[in-house]
Amino acid sequence: MGKVKVKLYGVLKEEAKEKEVEVEASTVEHLLRILATRFGNSFAEKVYDHNGAIRRFINIYVNGRDIRFINRLHTALMDGDEVSMIPAVSGGSGPSGEVKLVELESVKPAEYMNVKEVSLLYANMLKTGIVNHPILIERESRVILDGHDLFYSLDLLSAAKIPVIEIELSKVRVKSLQHGLKPITWEKIIEAGINGPKLPPKSFRVLVEIPQINIPLKDLLPALDKNAENLKVYNSSLELLYRGWPTPLVKLNSLSNDKRSVWAKLEGFNPFSNSVKDRIGWSMLNDALERGTLGQVIYEATSTNTGIALTSIANTLGVKAKLYIPQTIQKVSDVYLEVLGAEVVRLPVGLTVEAIGQVDFQAKADNATHLNQFENDANFKVHLKYTARELDQQLQSVGLKPSCIIGGLGTSGHMSAISFYFKNRYGDDVKIVGVQPAPNEVIPGIRRVETGMKWLHWVDFDEVVDVKQVEAIEAAIGIARKEGLLIGLSAGAVVHAFNKISKDDGVYVLIFPDTGYKYAEQFENYFKNLKEQRGCNAVDR
Ligand code: PLP
Repeated sequence: MGKVKVKLYGVLKEEAKEKEVEVEASTVEHLLRILATRFGNSFAEKVYDHNGAIRRFINIYVNGRDIRFINRLHTALMDGDEVSMIPAVSGGSGPSGEVKLVELESVKPAEYMNVKEVSLLYANMLKTGIVNHPILIERESRVILDGHDLFYSLDLLSAAKIPVIEIELSKVRVKSLQHGLKPITWEKIIEAGINGPKLPPKSFRVLVEIPQINIPLKDLLPALDKNAENLKVYNSSLELLYRGWPTPLVKLNSLSNDKRSVWAKLEGFNPFSNSVKDRIGWSMLNDALERGTLGQVIYEATSTNTGIALTSIANTLGVKAKLYIPQTIQKVSDVYLEVLGAEVVRLPVGLTVEAIGQVDFQAKADNATHLNQFENDANFKVHLKYTARELDQQLQSVGLKPSCIIGGLGTSGHMSAISFYFKNRYGDDVKIVGVQPAPNEVIPGIRRVETGMKWLHWVDFDEVVDVKQVEAIEAAIGIARKEGLLIGLSAGAVVHAFNKISKDDGVYVLIFPDTGYKYAEQFENYFKNLKEQRGCNAVDR
């Protein structure tokens, strides 16, 4: 219980015919009851609605703090407290405006601010967890007139809501702070907020008193997502792989138009080999573990990606890897595999598949496990269970059914599974297109159908497109320069095949097996040749 000074404003002052009274009350609620009895029904009606709830447009401040952000009607009163009761005045200025929480996105800053200028306020809010003043905005345009530092700090904190007071331009005066320059006009401020460019920091000040508030910062931030999976928190590097699925499906706007949408599935987002091959590395090792056939060492013929995937996952299991790689494959693969601790044997063959016999023989002789990605059904199975199904779910999530899916053929694992899934689910409405290197061309990861592929013969392909290495490289460069995605050579081959066979309408999905970072050698040679041909040093754009 305390003796408090109550200041009445606007209609409340008119109704009470007093602007300041002294009342002895224990809480704000108690105080309101006393005032309602003292000043009669029509005063009470202005404060409460017929349910006894305090009216939304009545703002009550105790010692300058809005009670909504303290303890509402239960806010305790002490001797000497000052209570202001202020009806929200349309267009009112200063503390008489109602403090509202609005979407951060709905207001427009008129000034630009550097991070250094807002860092202090940002730090302070993080420390105290309190926001203690509102942002002043112009009612019609929603342009910020005061509190830019708070706006930018809250934006940095990813706040969803911000506290604002709306004000009419006619109610306030502006003081230009750009010394020596032409005074800033209202028109300029509103124009800067709506259309930009933004004014420099502290260009102007509005001459108005801003009330103190006391809003918990957490009330302004989006609800905390406590789901570890949504927040990408994983308990092991293996979880990072399989819980990280689906890999992203991204619309390629440079290839899409009103009637045609083109989507890329980015298998480079797999964490170990940054390629589609993480999926089979995981699946083949799991399968061997389950069957009890996994020994202490694995041997595998690989063009790099399967080798990296297998070595990485084997490392988490304490199993060693020895890899057989064709001479034609880029040298950097040896470095990556050495870092991962694999033993690498380069073979004088053009294609990975040509090494299978030798690897099988050696594995038997050394009592090692040969998982053999070319024959192992765990390859096909993982793409059926995950890759194909997740692609269907991703497309469904944007209301689409594919009309054509294009992908490269190596073991044929991922495209055969995709064909099996989509042809069975949607029939021949979905066209499946495989991509192979043109005769005598080397594109790492893919090979020609006639070299023998297990699962390809279980399913239907509508077309297989031949692509030369230079065409794959140029298509990859095209995607890099239009979409900013540095994709691998087999992905480039897929893009080239798309360019060759695509029609003007439909939903196209391109499977990009990996990124371009392993193929610096091939890109470098391409640019070198290009420069030699052109007889100049300029890089073609
Ligand atoms: N692209 C790259 C870069 C690859 O590494 C591979 C396989 O090694 C493929 C495409 C072909 O994938 P799949 O073996 O599933 O046919």
